[in-house]
Amino acid sequence: MSGNRTFTMIKPDAVRNGHIGAILKMFNDAGFNILAMKFTKLSAEKAGEFYAVHKERPFYGELVEFMSSGPIVAAILEKDNAVEDFRKLIGATNPAEAADGTVRKLYATSIGENAVHGADSDENAMIEGSFHFAGTEIFG
Ligand code: ATP
Ligand code: MG
Repeated sequence: MSGNRTFTMIKPDAVRNGHIGAILKMFNDAGFNILAMKFTKLSAEKAGEFYAVHKERPFYGELVEFMSSGPIVAAILEKDNAVEDFRKLIGATNPAEAADGTVRKLYATSIGENAVHGADSDENAMIEGSFHFAGTEIFG
């Protein structure tokens, strides 16, 4: 059975462009409850650790630089079938391929600067949530 939690970040581009409120509204309107949330900033070292799975990819350096370029919003969200439904809500990695009405279609500017992150499995949702919220209260 699929789990009911996922992990997200509103990335530095969307924060800089003033889209935090609109994006959080989309999360709520799609039925996601916020269980934990913080406005924070990743150091290059922490961003590198978070995206370590992509270390060998050609865009890794660019990704780490971008993700540490300004503040982000990190959150743990709750809904039935959370991981899959949230990936549907945010849309394809490349905004040019994202479906109409998805967060990335509306707010991403490029494949790199694509507004939001969504965990891709229940296991990663747990790992990523702990990365940002270990030791803090989760309201769910
Ligand atoms: P995320 O993990 O951030 O939710 P995703 O799962 O849709 O995105 P991944 O394949 O995990 O996509 O890539 C992680 C991130 O790396 C992407 O969201 C994007 O910011 C960046 N990225 C992926 N592919 C490219 C690329 N070809 N060029 C530049 N950046 C890329
Ligand atoms: Mg991913």
